[in-house]
Amino acid sequence: KMSNPDAPEDSSSKLLKSDGQEMGGAWPGQAFSLQVKKVLFHEKSKYQDVLVFESTTYGNVLVLDGIVQATERDEFSYQEMLAHLPLFAHQNPKKVLIIGGGDGGILREVLKHDTVEKVTMCEIDEMVIDVAKKFLPGMSCGFSHEKLDLYCGDGFEFLKNHKNEFDVIITDSSDPVGPAESLFGQSYYELLRDALKEDGILSSQGESVWLHLPLIAHLVAFNRKIFPTVNYAQSIVSTYPSGSMGYLICAKSDTRDVTTPARVLSDEQVKNMNLRFYNSEVHKAAFVLPQFVRNALEKK
Ligand code: SAM
Repeated sequence: KMSNPDAPEDSSSKLLKSDGQEMGGAWPGQAFSLQVKKVLFHEKSKYQDVLVFESTTYGNVLVLDGIVQATERDEFSYQEMLAHLPLFAHQNPKKVLIIGGGDGGILREVLKHDTVEKVTMCEIDEMVIDVAKKFLPGMSCGFSHEKLDLYCGDGFEFLKNHKNEFDVIITDSSDPVGPAESLFGQSYYELLRDALKEDGILSSQGESVWLHLPLIAHLVAFNRKIFPTVNYAQSIVSTYPSGSMGYLICAKSDTRDVTTPARVLSDEQVKNMNLRFYNSEVHKAAFVLPQFVRNALEKK
């Protein structure tokens, strides 16, 4: 979810009114609110304003620089789709990299794949990991897993030292104002391509079609110059602005269609993996786009 670049620079300091309204000026003309029961944590890290509050109806909520990142009630939609679209599009993902993802939800989903041998994660802000461990236990449950290699640092810098290494790379970033700015440019996607193996697949947080269609069209257009396969999917996430979230899925080779799963799940497997949003039908349906989005993303 992208913030408004015209918003005042210190907007994060006025980030939350007592009704839990996003106040950063991120979405001009609209704002999202959640009722606050209790503020559990509020500090400035080296990189951003970090807030966790208990809401009356969505459980505990993580807010970075005044923008809701995840709530205990609806996070599964975003986490499952961002993680499982690329992972199930891949025949045999063994090495997975997560950039960002400090709340741990994407890590939790990646670890559900038996094929995965090693998960590397590079999150810039240790404070996000610490508060997730304390206040978001359902998301952060994978941080002590033996398959995890955890690094604290900038994802852009991290990628420069990794070539031809990963089957799947998932960018679970915040919005492109603040520490995640470097994760939205063409040079970042060139680094992602180089870090992927030849049959590698990536997914990235892809904003909302109701708020940022020109930005999404720009991301898709420059990625078509880098990857032979570029696709956009979306799902509903109640507490993201306008209720929808997009996922950019790019593959380094065009040998298979990533809009259909390479590994199809039975109902039994869906249950055993404790999937609450993703299934093999949802995978295919997520790439079916409304006409106004198709028009905006069509090849120019
Ligand atoms: N799902 C959320 C959303 O879009 O609302 C985002 C989740 S949040 C876990 C995103 C994480 O990306 C944050 O923990 C933030 O610290 C991290 N991050 C931001 N910029 C980064 C960078 N340059 N390198 C690595 N991690 C970064």
